[in-house]
Amino acid sequence: MMLGGDVTSQMGGDPFDGFVQRESNFEGGYNMLAEVDQEQCIGCESCPEFCPEVFKMGADGLAIAYTNPVPSECEEAAKEAAEGCPAHCIHLK
Ligand code: SF4
Repeated sequence: MMLGGDVTSQMGGDPFDGFVQRESNFEGGYNMLAEVDQEQCIGCESCPEFCPEVFKMGADGLAIAYTNPVPSECEEAAKEAAEGCPAHCIHLK
């Protein structure tokens, strides 16, 4: 079933299974999903420094990708966060 009139329809019908969509004020569109493998996260707090719009630390001390899909204007910062992750546990697709 399609969700009408939202980001999902702009992305060509990809349902983004397993990701939570948020309302936001970003205007540049969406082409990327971010995921943190919390089994691997060591809680270094690097990713929110690179890209606080997408990543934050949870109460358990592990990172969360809390803005999904990633707004287009945050894609480069999200890539930098992923490249800078010492545990290589940020996955972008
Ligand atoms: S950079 Fe990687 S290891 Fe560090 S908090 Fe973020 S996801 Fe976890």
